[in-house]
Amino acid sequence: MGEFELIRNYFAAAPCAQAGDGVALGIGDDCALLAVPPGDQLAISTDTLVAGVHFPDVCDPFLLGQRALAVSASDLAAMGATPLAFTLALTLPSVDADWLQAFARGLNQMALGCALRLIGGDTTRGPLSLTLTVFGCVPAGQALTRSGAQPGDLLCVGGALGDGAGALPLVLNQRTAEASITQALLARYWSPQPQLILGQALRGKATSALDISDGLLADCGHIAVASNVRLSILREALPLSAALTEFFGLESAREAALSGGDDYVLAFTLPAVHLAELRAAGLSVHVVGRVEAGQGVAVFDADGQDVTPQTRGYQHFRESQ
Ligand code: ADP
Ligand code: MG
Repeated sequence: MGEFELIRNYFAAAPCAQAGDGVALGIGDDCALLAVPPGDQLAISTDTLVAGVHFPDVCDPFLLGQRALAVSASDLAAMGATPLAFTLALTLPSVDADWLQAFARGLNQMALGCALRLIGGDTTRGPLSLTLTVFGCVPAGQALTRSGAQPGDLLCVGGALGDGAGALPLVLNQRTAEASITQALLARYWSPQPQLILGQALRGKATSALDISDGLLADCGHIAVASNVRLSILREALPLSAALTEFFGLESAREAALSGGDDYVLAFTLPAVHLAELRAAGLSVHVVGRVEAGQGVAVFDADGQDVTPQTRGYQHFRESQ
């Protein structure tokens, strides 16, 4: 199978690659053409996933396709952008029809779920890696950045934390767990649900936002620096899934929530006045701390003791093997 046949069979023919809203010209020409609504800005983000570094060398291609796009779409959610389109640069060691078909199915499923259209890409031979670039629209001046947090704001997250880190020993076949736990955690790892609706609802309300990819502590550190504030987290307020708490125990589950990676849940700062309205709209908003004057990120327990962990940040996939 040649390069063009491969592109045609697996990508150009996919339902998510058909022209539609916002895509004036899709796959097949030298460039795709996007129609950005007047008054909007284009939000753009690129992520590369390398086999053996960001995902196991041997893994289910359907799940890989889902996860690769979810991780990128999560960046659009974090900016409050409305999804528009994406490109896929695919480097493959060989052409394996079964692998490609399953990968394209997973990609297509996530793309349809996120309303993202595949508009182009590149196909090359080499060690397996994926580079996805996503495009979204956001009304000019309304994108959620990392730099607007104000002392007095609440620090919030959009869902349970730590499940990505909890799933890792299962992904790597280092541990086993009962079926219900395995199922819940692996689902969070392989098909994270980008919080696109929440991100768009935070426009004009949240003062800063990002998606948690490297762990709450490390990522809150980015908001603290960009906004020149201090973020203080209440340990007991961290939302944890039942599956993670059962699998890890409470203490390690809290550690995973603070320092584990791969959650792709939004973290944002919010003036308290907006909280009730967001919750009334049915959105998942958990208050985990507050913004203060100062610098850095600290964790406190219910007694007000400083319990900030010494190790923080994402354990890189390769190093954990
Ligand atoms: P060019 O040589 O002009 O860059 P290519 O031969 O690389 O074009 O690709 C032909 C068309 O197929 C282009 O529209 C490109 O965007 C698209 N394309 C290539 N690889 C992929 C892919 N993996 N997924 C989706 N579209 C792709
Ligand atoms: Mg090309």
